[in-house]
This record gives sequence, structure tokens and C-alpha cells, in this order.
Amino acid sequence: MSAQILDGIVFSAEIKEDVKRRVAAMKEQGVIPGLAVILVGDDPASELYVRNKGKGCEETGMLSRTIRMNAAATQEELEAEIDRLNRDPAIHGILVQLPLPGHLDEAAALAKILPEKDVDGFHLINAGHLMTGTEGVTPCTPKGALYMIRSTGEDLSGKEAVVIGRSNIVGKPMAMLLLQQNCTVTLCHSRTKNLAEHTRRADILVAAVGKAGFVTADMVKEGAIVIDVGINRVDGKVCGDVDFEKVKEKAGWITPVPGGVGRMTIAMLLSNTADAAERTLKRE
Ligand code: NAD
Repeated sequence: MSAQILDGIVFSAEIKEDVKRRVAAMKEQGVIPGLAVILVGDDPASELYVRNKGKGCEETGMLSRTIRMNAAATQEELEAEIDRLNRDPAIHGILVQLPLPGHLDEAAALAKILPEKDVDGFHLINAGHLMTGTEGVTPCTPKGALYMIRSTGEDLSGKEAVVIGRSNIVGKPMAMLLLQQNCTVTLCHSRTKNLAEHTRRADILVAAVGKAGFVTADMVKEGAIVIDVGINRVDGKVCGDVDFEKVKEKAGWITPVPGGVGRMTIAMLLSNTADAAERTLKRE
């Protein structure tokens, strides 16, 4: 039987509707949630992401500000801009679009963002919150992926979850979120031996590798929840890490690419910004 499709277009619309309601409620109290995106250089993929973020803000009634900096901007200039946004009361969320040009220090820039305005959830303080299961900002992509996993209605407690990829922005936080759901988590990576032996045990399989067609049907357990985080371009077409056509005949649930996790990332960014604005309102 063919898998049920976990539709990122439907779920992200659900989240955006909720954000829209929350933004309207805050506006009544005189606060407009504001998201600032810093874009250094003119990488076309980053330009597209930034445009989509602006569109998301518009749809939900938030203030959106894009700060464009020259590709040759210095670390001092970048950090000065972050400092300005940290102090700006109209801005509740700050995002530095990655990757930065090679001469800039990404970690140092991210560390400059006030943790409460770090809507990407990449600051070390927020990484620490995720690690310890305390309240902080959760990275958008794994948060969106978890939303999709939970939408299956399956009891996640005790399930075998396998994550392929150990990046700080996807793989590691994904593993922590699944652990918080009481899954038994295996985190696989490029040095993992006998990868398929791990993935075949997975009730929940998350692929965040960046290689088209990497997860094949023989690597998937019958009835599994398969989440494809990958975004790859093959012959001008966008596809994920999972061999969708074959795996969907074996999995219980599967996310498509495009129209899957990618949609959730932006929705969760908007949701994290609304959370940040609500926290400010509470403090005032
Ligand atoms: P990354 O390059 O930082 O990490 C890739 C990971 O894959 C590494 O940890 C590596 O160990 C692992 N890997 C590589 N080859 C492997 C192999 N043969 N076997 C097992 N593991 C292997 O990438 P990332 O930033 O985590 O992104 C992963 C993918 O997700 C990319 O395609 C990226 O474009 C996509 N992505 C999508 C979204 C979204 O919104 N949907 C957000 C972020 C990243």
C-alpha cells in the first residue's frame, strides 16, 4: 500500500493561520512582531530564501526588514549591524542568512545575536536549552519535521528513530527533539558503518544528508515514518534525499520534496518570531 503523504503545504498553512491570529492579538496591544534578516552578498539561493521569509511576514501581518550587506563586509560591520538590531525594540527576531562569505566568522556572528531574538535557535544558549530540555528557541527545520511526525498521531514513546546527518542546524537538534519524545534515537553520519542496518530498524527515519536519492527502498522498514529534509537540485529540478517513488510504496508516511519540510521551516521561523514578540509583551 502506498504511504500517506505528510503535506508541508497544508501543515505550514495551519501554522501560519495560527501565527496570523497571534499577530492580530498582539497588534491590539500595540505590538507588531518584527523579523530582521541580514543578507551578506548576493547568493541567488539565499536571495530566494530571504524573499520567501519576507513573503511569510507579509502573509501573517508581521514587520519584515531585510538588511543587505556587501559581500566584502567585515566581521566588525556585520556584528555592528547585529548589535543595532539587538537594541531595536521594533525587532523581535534576528536571522543571519547562512552561509556567510568565507572570510566571515559564522559562529562569532551567531553568538552576537541576543538569545531571545535568535529565532533560528542557533545561539549556544538555545542549543543548551534544547540539550537540557528547558525553555528556549528550537531550530526551525527540525521543529517543522517534528510537527509532521506528530501529525501522524502515532505514539512516539519507545519508537526507534534514526536520523541521518549530524549538522548543528538539522541532524543534532532533530535527534534531541526525538529524544524528548522518548524515542530511542540513533544518529548516523558519514562515518557510520553499515548504515542500512540502522535505517532498516527505524520506525521514524529522518534524512538530512544533501544527496539526491540517497535513501532507497531497501533501507526503509515497512510502515515507517520517513521525513526527507534534503534539498538537492538534479537537472534543474528540486528533489530530496529519499527515492520518493519507490520508498512511498513501503513507508507508512512520507514527506515530499518540494512541498514538505522546506515549507515548515519558514512557518516555524514565523512562529518563533511570534513567540519572541509574545515574550517581550509579557515582560513589559
Ligand atoms: P550538512 O552538509 O551540514 O550535513 C550533512 C550530513 O550528512 C553530515 O552530518 C554528514 O555526516 C552526513 N552524511 C554525508 N554523507 C553521508 C553518508 N554517505 N552516510 C551517512 N551520512 C552522511 O547539511 P545540512 O545543513 O544538515 O543539510 C542537509 C540537507 O538538508 C541538505 O540537502 C540541505 O539543503 C537540506 N536542508 C533543508 C532544509 C529545509 O528547510 N528543508 C533546511 C536545512 C537544510
